[in-house]
Amino acid sequence: SGSGSSTSQSRGLTTAPPQEERLLVAVRVRPSFENGERCIEVISPTSLLFDDGGRGKARKYSYDYVFKESDTQEMVYKATTAPLVQDVIKGYNAAVFAYGATGSGKTHTMLGPCRKKGATPTEADGQTSDSGLMVRAIEEIFQYIEMSEDPASCKVSISYLEIYNELIRDLLNPGGPLELREDNRGQRITVAGLSEITTSSRKEVVSLLLKGNKARTMEPTAANQTSSRSHALLSITVQSKTSLGVKQGRLFLTDLAGSERAKKTKNRGKRLQEGAHINRSLLALGNCINALSGGARYVNYRDSKLTRLLKEALSGRCKTVMIAHIAPESKHRDETKNTLVYADRANSITTRLQNSVYVDELQNFPTKHYQHLVFELREEV
Ligand code: ADP
Ligand code: MG
Repeated sequence: SGSGSSTSQSRGLTTAPPQEERLLVAVRVRPSFENGERCIEVISPTSLLFDDGGRGKARKYSYDYVFKESDTQEMVYKATTAPLVQDVIKGYNAAVFAYGATGSGKTHTMLGPCRKKGATPTEADGQTSDSGLMVRAIEEIFQYIEMSEDPASCKVSISYLEIYNELIRDLLNPGGPLELREDNRGQRITVAGLSEITTSSRKEVVSLLLKGNKARTMEPTAANQTSSRSHALLSITVQSKTSLGVKQGRLFLTDLAGSERAKKTKNRGKRLQEGAHINRSLLALGNCINALSGGARYVNYRDSKLTRLLKEALSGRCKTVMIAHIAPESKHRDETKNTLVYADRANSITTRLQNSVYVDELQNFPTKHYQHLVFELREEV
Protein backbone atom coordinates (compact mmCIF):
# COMPACT_ATOMS: atom_id res chain seq x y z
CA SER A 1 0.00 0.00 0.00
CA GLY A 2 1.14 3.51 -0.72
CA SER A 3 -0.08 5.05 2.53
CA GLY A 4 3.06 5.43 4.58
CA SER A 5 4.03 7.75 7.37
CA SER A 6 3.49 10.82 5.21
CA THR A 7 -0.23 10.05 5.09
CA SER A 8 -0.38 9.74 8.85
CA GLN A 9 1.47 13.01 9.26
CA SER A 10 -0.84 14.88 6.92
CA ARG A 11 -3.73 13.74 9.08
CA GLY A 12 -2.07 15.26 12.10
CA LEU A 13 -1.83 12.09 14.17
CA THR A 14 -0.04 12.72 17.42
CA THR A 15 -0.26 9.19 18.78
CA ALA A 16 2.14 7.46 16.43
CA PRO A 17 3.74 4.23 17.66
CA PRO A 18 6.86 4.68 19.82
CA GLN A 19 9.88 5.81 17.81
CA GLU A 20 13.19 4.02 17.96
CA GLU A 21 15.69 6.27 19.67
CA ARG A 22 19.36 5.56 20.04
CA LEU A 23 20.97 6.54 23.31
CA LEU A 24 23.04 9.63 22.51
CA VAL A 25 26.64 9.51 23.61
CA ALA A 26 28.88 12.53 24.10
CA VAL A 27 32.50 12.66 25.25
CA ARG A 28 33.81 15.78 26.99
CA VAL A 29 37.52 16.42 27.45
CA ARG A 30 38.29 18.60 30.44
CA PRO A 31 41.04 21.26 30.22
CA SER A 32 44.51 20.20 31.25
CA PHE A 33 45.95 21.79 34.37
CA GLU A 34 49.57 21.08 33.41
CA ASN A 35 51.89 21.04 30.42
CA GLY A 36 52.71 17.34 30.52
CA GLU A 37 52.26 14.67 27.87
CA ARG A 38 48.76 14.23 26.44
CA CYS A 39 47.01 11.17 25.05
CA ILE A 40 43.92 12.82 23.56
CA GLU A 41 43.47 14.95 20.48
CA VAL A 42 40.01 16.13 19.45
CA ILE A 43 39.91 16.11 15.62
CA SER A 44 36.27 17.03 14.92
CA PRO A 45 32.99 17.77 16.77
CA THR A 46 32.31 14.02 16.67
CA SER A 47 35.69 12.32 16.89
CA LEU A 48 38.98 12.17 18.74
CA LEU A 49 42.32 10.37 18.61
CA PHE A 50 43.51 8.34 21.56
CA ASP A 51 47.17 7.35 21.90
CA ASP A 52 47.29 4.25 24.08
CA GLY A 53 51.03 4.53 24.64
CA GLY A 54 51.84 1.43 22.60
CA ARG A 55 53.80 1.33 19.37
CA GLY A 56 50.71 1.40 17.16
CA LYS A 57 49.05 4.46 15.71
CA ALA A 58 46.61 6.50 17.74
CA ARG A 59 43.11 5.08 17.53
CA LYS A 60 40.13 7.09 16.36
CA TYR A 61 36.87 7.04 18.33
CA SER A 62 33.62 8.58 17.09
CA TYR A 63 30.55 9.61 19.10
CA ASP A 64 27.45 11.72 18.62
CA TYR A 65 29.35 14.66 20.10
CA VAL A 66 32.91 15.26 21.20
CA PHE A 67 33.48 18.40 23.28
CA LYS A 68 37.01 19.74 23.32
CA GLU A 69 38.67 21.54 26.23
CA SER A 70 37.61 25.02 25.16
CA ASP A 71 33.94 24.12 24.58
CA THR A 72 31.68 26.02 26.94
CA GLN A 73 28.99 24.90 29.37
CA GLU A 74 26.45 26.53 27.07
CA MET A 75 27.62 24.48 24.07
CA VAL A 76 27.35 21.27 26.07
CA TYR A 77 23.88 22.26 27.32
CA LYS A 78 22.57 23.28 23.89
CA ALA A 79 23.70 20.06 22.22
CA THR A 80 22.86 17.48 24.88
CA THR A 81 20.17 18.75 27.23
CA ALA A 82 18.18 21.57 25.61
CA PRO A 83 16.41 19.17 23.21
CA LEU A 84 15.47 16.94 26.15
CA VAL A 85 14.02 19.90 28.06
CA GLN A 86 11.66 20.49 25.12
CA ASP A 87 10.56 16.85 25.33
CA VAL A 88 10.00 17.04 29.09
CA ILE A 89 7.77 20.09 28.65
CA LYS A 90 5.75 18.10 26.11
CA GLY A 91 5.27 15.31 28.64
CA TYR A 92 8.04 12.86 27.85
CA ASN A 93 10.66 11.55 30.23
CA ALA A 94 14.35 12.15 29.57
CA ALA A 95 17.66 11.48 31.28
CA VAL A 96 21.25 12.69 31.20
CA PHE A 97 24.03 10.96 33.03
CA ALA A 98 27.61 12.03 33.57
CA TYR A 99 30.13 9.19 33.53
CA GLY A 100 33.89 9.21 34.12
CA ALA A 101 36.74 8.82 36.58
CA THR A 102 37.11 11.12 39.58
CA GLY A 103 38.54 14.46 38.50
CA SER A 104 37.40 14.14 34.87
CA GLY A 105 34.81 16.94 35.12
CA LYS A 106 31.44 15.28 35.83
CA THR A 107 30.35 17.68 38.57
CA HIS A 108 31.61 20.64 36.57
CA THR A 109 29.32 19.64 33.70
CA MET A 110 26.29 18.86 35.84
CA LEU A 111 26.48 21.62 38.44
CA GLY A 112 29.27 24.01 37.52
CA PRO A 113 32.48 25.04 39.23
CA CYS A 114 32.49 24.19 42.91
CA ARG A 115 33.08 26.89 45.47
CA LYS A 116 36.02 26.86 47.85
CA LYS A 117 35.50 24.55 50.78
CA GLY A 118 33.44 26.14 53.56
CA ALA A 119 32.01 28.95 51.45
CA THR A 120 28.24 29.26 51.60
CA PRO A 121 25.95 29.69 48.62
CA THR A 122 25.17 33.32 47.81
CA GLU A 123 22.70 35.00 45.50
CA ALA A 124 25.51 35.42 43.01
CA ASP A 125 25.50 31.64 42.70
CA GLY A 126 22.47 31.85 40.41
CA GLN A 127 23.11 31.26 36.74
CA THR A 128 26.53 32.37 35.57
CA SER A 129 28.31 31.60 32.32
CA ASP A 130 29.79 28.58 34.10
CA SER A 131 26.53 27.14 35.40
CA GLY A 132 26.11 23.45 34.70
CA LEU A 133 23.33 21.46 33.05
CA MET A 134 21.17 21.17 36.16
CA VAL A 135 20.87 24.93 36.64
CA ARG A 136 20.44 25.62 32.92
CA ALA A 137 17.70 23.01 32.53
CA ILE A 138 15.73 24.47 35.43
CA GLU A 139 16.22 28.01 34.11
CA GLU A 140 14.89 27.04 30.71
CA ILE A 141 11.89 25.20 32.14
CA PHE A 142 10.92 28.26 34.20
CA GLN A 143 11.44 30.53 31.21
CA TYR A 144 9.19 28.36 29.12
CA ILE A 145 6.45 28.33 31.76
CA GLU A 146 6.57 32.10 32.26
CA MET A 147 6.13 32.58 28.53
CA SER A 148 3.30 30.06 28.22
CA GLU A 149 -0.36 31.03 27.95
CA ASP A 150 -1.28 29.86 31.42
CA PRO A 151 1.71 29.73 33.76
CA ALA A 152 -0.56 28.96 36.74
CA SER A 153 -1.52 25.60 35.23
CA CYS A 154 2.11 24.39 35.35
CA LYS A 155 3.91 22.95 38.33
CA VAL A 156 7.62 22.24 38.72
CA SER A 157 8.93 20.01 41.49
CA ILE A 158 12.37 18.63 42.18
CA SER A 159 13.91 15.84 44.21
CA TYR A 160 17.60 15.20 44.72
CA LEU A 161 19.11 12.04 46.17
CA GLU A 162 22.42 10.28 46.49
CA ILE A 163 23.34 6.62 46.44
CA TYR A 164 26.30 5.99 48.70
CA ASN A 165 27.30 2.45 49.67
CA GLU A 166 24.03 1.24 48.11
CA LEU A 167 22.09 3.43 50.55
CA ILE A 168 19.76 6.14 49.32
CA ARG A 169 19.81 9.52 51.08
CA ASP A 170 17.65 12.56 50.47
CA LEU A 171 19.94 15.47 49.59
CA LEU A 172 17.18 18.06 50.07
CA ASN A 173 16.34 16.76 53.53
CA PRO A 174 19.34 14.72 54.74
CA GLY A 175 18.49 11.96 57.19
CA GLY A 176 18.44 8.19 57.43
CA PRO A 177 18.50 5.90 54.39
CA LEU A 178 15.35 5.63 52.25
CA GLU A 179 13.91 2.50 50.67
CA LEU A 180 12.89 1.81 47.09
CA ARG A 181 9.27 0.89 46.44
CA GLU A 182 7.95 -0.91 43.43
CA ASP A 183 4.43 -0.70 42.19
CA ASN A 184 2.61 -1.73 39.05
CA ARG A 185 4.50 -5.09 39.13
CA GLY A 186 7.92 -3.52 39.29
CA GLN A 187 7.25 -1.19 36.39
CA ARG A 188 7.34 1.92 38.53
CA ILE A 189 10.04 2.57 41.08
CA THR A 190 9.66 5.24 43.72
CA VAL A 191 11.73 6.22 46.74
CA ALA A 192 9.61 6.08 49.89
CA GLY A 193 9.73 9.32 51.87
CA LEU A 194 11.85 11.26 49.38
CA SER A 195 11.05 14.97 49.53
CA GLU A 196 9.63 16.46 46.39
CA ILE A 197 9.81 20.23 46.54
CA THR A 198 7.40 22.29 44.49
CA THR A 199 8.61 25.73 43.70
CA SER A 200 8.05 28.60 41.36
CA SER A 201 11.22 30.42 42.31
CA ARG A 202 14.29 29.70 40.25
CA LYS A 203 16.46 31.29 42.92
CA GLU A 204 15.11 28.82 45.45
CA VAL A 205 15.87 25.89 43.17
CA VAL A 206 19.44 27.00 42.64
CA SER A 207 20.06 27.40 46.35
CA LEU A 208 18.42 24.00 47.02
CA LEU A 209 20.76 22.42 44.48
CA LEU A 210 23.87 23.96 45.95
CA LYS A 211 22.79 23.03 49.46
CA GLY A 212 21.98 19.51 48.30
CA ASN A 213 25.35 19.15 46.65
CA LYS A 214 27.07 20.18 49.87
CA ALA A 215 25.17 17.39 51.61
CA ARG A 216 26.74 14.80 49.27
CA THR A 217 29.06 12.39 51.00
CA MET A 218 32.61 13.54 50.35
CA GLU A 219 35.50 11.40 51.52
CA PRO A 220 39.20 11.85 50.92
CA THR A 221 40.86 9.09 48.88
CA ALA A 222 44.35 8.66 47.49
CA ALA A 223 43.07 9.56 44.02
CA ASN A 224 41.47 12.87 44.91
CA GLN A 225 41.11 14.85 48.11
CA THR A 226 37.40 15.49 47.70
CA SER A 227 36.51 12.58 45.49
CA SER A 228 32.82 11.95 45.38
CA ARG A 229 32.12 8.30 46.01
CA SER A 230 28.41 8.83 45.62
CA HIS A 231 25.97 8.93 42.74
CA ALA A 232 23.72 12.02 42.75
CA LEU A 233 20.33 11.97 40.99
CA LEU A 234 18.31 15.11 40.42
CA SER A 235 14.80 14.73 39.09
CA ILE A 236 12.79 17.66 37.75
CA THR A 237 9.08 17.00 37.21
CA VAL A 238 6.97 19.32 35.08
CA GLN A 239 3.19 18.96 35.28
CA SER A 240 0.71 20.95 33.26
CA LYS A 241 -3.06 20.81 33.11
CA THR A 242 -4.48 20.23 29.65
CA SER A 243 -7.95 19.46 28.39
CA LEU A 244 -7.04 15.76 28.46
CA GLY A 245 -5.82 15.70 32.04
CA VAL A 246 -2.54 16.41 33.77
CA LYS A 247 0.45 15.99 31.49
CA GLN A 248 3.68 15.06 33.22
CA GLY A 249 7.28 14.96 32.02
CA ARG A 250 10.34 14.19 34.07
CA LEU A 251 14.02 14.95 33.55
CA PHE A 252 16.62 12.87 35.40
CA LEU A 253 20.09 14.39 35.73
CA THR A 254 22.68 12.06 37.22
CA ASP A 255 26.20 12.81 38.42
CA LEU A 256 27.71 9.32 38.74
CA ALA A 257 30.44 8.36 41.19
CA GLY A 258 33.99 8.03 39.89
CA SER A 259 34.37 5.07 37.53
CA GLU A 260 38.01 4.36 38.50
CA ARG A 261 38.95 0.93 39.75
CA ALA A 262 39.25 0.42 43.50
CA LYS A 263 42.87 -0.78 43.29
CA LYS A 264 44.11 2.50 41.91
CA THR A 265 42.90 4.55 44.84
CA LYS A 266 44.72 2.22 47.29
CA ASN A 267 41.46 1.75 49.14
CA ARG A 268 41.59 0.20 52.57
CA GLY A 269 38.89 -0.77 55.04
CA LYS A 270 35.91 1.53 54.73
CA ARG A 271 37.26 2.90 51.46
CA LEU A 272 37.53 -0.58 50.00
CA GLN A 273 33.95 -1.35 50.91
CA GLU A 274 32.81 1.85 49.28
CA GLY A 275 34.80 0.97 46.20
CA ALA A 276 33.14 -2.42 46.09
CA HIS A 277 29.68 -0.88 46.28
CA ILE A 278 30.45 1.75 43.69
CA ASN A 279 31.76 -0.94 41.44
CA ARG A 280 28.60 -2.90 42.06
CA SER A 281 26.39 -0.02 40.91
CA LEU A 282 28.59 0.95 37.99
CA LEU A 283 29.19 -2.68 37.11
CA ALA A 284 25.45 -3.24 37.03
CA LEU A 285 25.08 -0.15 34.84
CA GLY A 286 27.82 -1.47 32.55
CA ASN A 287 26.10 -4.86 32.38
CA CYS A 288 22.82 -3.20 31.46
CA ILE A 289 24.56 -1.16 28.79
CA ASN A 290 26.22 -4.31 27.43
CA ALA A 291 22.96 -6.21 27.35
CA LEU A 292 21.08 -3.31 25.75
CA SER A 293 23.75 -2.67 23.15
CA GLY A 294 23.80 -6.36 22.24
CA GLY A 295 20.05 -6.27 21.76
CA ALA A 296 19.44 -8.72 24.61
CA ARG A 297 15.81 -9.59 25.30
CA TYR A 298 16.37 -9.72 29.04
CA VAL A 299 18.21 -6.95 30.86
CA ASN A 300 18.82 -7.25 34.59
CA TYR A 301 18.18 -3.92 36.27
CA ARG A 302 17.80 -5.47 39.71
CA ASP A 303 21.46 -5.78 40.65
CA SER A 304 21.89 -2.30 42.13
CA LYS A 305 19.99 0.71 43.39
CA LEU A 306 21.41 2.78 40.59
CA THR A 307 20.14 0.55 37.79
CA ARG A 308 16.75 0.11 39.46
CA LEU A 309 16.39 3.89 39.62
CA LEU A 310 17.71 4.39 36.09
CA LYS A 311 15.64 1.57 34.66
CA GLU A 312 13.14 3.97 33.19
CA ALA A 313 15.92 5.97 31.62
CA LEU A 314 17.71 2.97 30.15
CA SER A 315 14.88 0.66 29.21
CA GLY A 316 13.80 2.94 26.45
CA ARG A 317 10.83 4.67 27.91
CA CYS A 318 12.69 7.93 27.61
CA LYS A 319 15.37 9.76 25.67
CA THR A 320 18.75 9.35 27.28
CA VAL A 321 22.08 11.10 26.84
CA MET A 322 25.32 9.87 28.33
CA ILE A 323 28.17 12.35 28.71
CA ALA A 324 31.43 10.51 29.26
CA HIS A 325 34.20 12.64 30.78
CA ILE A 326 37.93 12.23 30.25
CA ALA A 327 41.13 13.98 31.29
CA PRO A 328 43.61 14.70 28.47
CA GLU A 329 46.86 13.92 30.36
CA SER A 330 48.72 10.70 29.56
CA LYS A 331 48.94 9.76 33.21
CA HIS A 332 45.18 9.15 33.13
CA ARG A 333 45.49 6.96 30.02
CA ASP A 334 44.09 3.76 31.58
CA GLU A 335 40.96 5.42 32.93
CA THR A 336 40.51 7.35 29.72
CA LYS A 337 40.65 4.18 27.67
CA ASN A 338 38.11 2.46 29.94
CA THR A 339 35.76 5.42 29.57
CA LEU A 340 36.15 5.61 25.78
CA VAL A 341 35.40 1.89 25.41
CA TYR A 342 32.43 2.13 27.80
CA ALA A 343 31.04 5.07 25.83
CA ASP A 344 31.63 3.23 22.57
CA ARG A 345 29.49 0.35 23.76
CA ALA A 346 26.74 2.70 24.96
CA ASN A 347 26.80 4.22 21.47
CA SER A 348 24.91 1.31 19.98
CA ILE A 349 21.96 1.23 22.37
CA THR A 350 18.55 1.85 20.90
CA THR A 351 15.73 3.00 23.11
CA ARG A 352 12.05 3.45 22.42
CA LEU A 353 10.48 6.81 23.05
CA GLN A 354 6.88 6.57 24.18
CA ASN A 355 4.11 9.07 24.03
CA SER A 356 3.15 11.42 26.80
CA VAL A 357 1.41 9.92 29.77
CA TYR A 358 -1.54 11.76 31.19
CA VAL A 359 -1.33 10.82 34.85
CA ASP A 360 -4.98 11.54 35.60
CA GLU A 361 -6.09 9.25 32.86
CA LEU A 362 -3.65 6.41 33.16
CA GLN A 363 -6.48 3.88 33.43
CA ASN A 364 -8.11 4.97 30.20
CA PHE A 365 -4.85 5.56 28.45
CA PRO A 366 -4.97 2.95 25.68
CA THR A 367 -8.54 3.39 24.54
CA LYS A 368 -8.92 7.13 24.92
CA HIS A 369 -5.65 8.08 23.39
CA TYR A 370 -5.65 5.65 20.53
CA GLN A 371 -9.32 6.00 19.71
CA HIS A 372 -8.95 8.40 16.82
CA LEU A 373 -6.04 6.35 15.51
CA VAL A 374 -8.32 3.29 15.54
CA PHE A 375 -10.99 5.22 13.67
CA GLU A 376 -8.52 6.32 11.04
CA LEU A 377 -7.27 2.77 10.60
CA ARG A 378 -10.83 1.52 10.18
CA GLU A 379 -11.38 4.07 7.49
CA GLU A 380 -8.38 2.74 5.65
CA VAL A 381 -9.54 -0.90 5.78
P1 ADP B 1 34.54 14.96 38.92
O1 ADP B 1 33.20 15.44 39.39
O2 ADP B 1 34.46 14.12 37.69
O3 ADP B 1 35.34 14.29 39.99
P2 ADP B 1 35.13 17.76 38.76
O4 ADP B 1 33.94 18.24 38.01
O5 ADP B 1 35.15 18.00 40.22
O6 ADP B 1 35.40 16.23 38.46
O7 ADP B 1 36.42 18.39 38.04
C1 ADP B 1 37.72 18.31 38.57
C2 ADP B 1 38.34 19.69 38.51
O8 ADP B 1 38.47 20.12 37.17
C3 ADP B 1 37.53 20.75 39.21
O9 ADP B 1 38.40 21.67 39.82
C4 ADP B 1 36.77 21.41 38.08
O10 ADP B 1 36.39 22.73 38.38
C5 ADP B 1 37.76 21.32 36.94
N1 ADP B 1 37.10 21.20 35.63
C6 ADP B 1 36.51 20.09 35.13
N2 ADP B 1 36.00 20.29 33.91
C7 ADP B 1 36.25 21.57 33.61
C8 ADP B 1 35.96 22.41 32.46
N3 ADP B 1 35.30 21.94 31.38
N4 ADP B 1 36.41 23.69 32.50
C9 ADP B 1 37.08 24.17 33.57
N5 ADP B 1 37.37 23.44 34.67
C10 ADP B 1 36.96 22.16 34.70
MG1 MG C 1 32.27 15.10 41.21
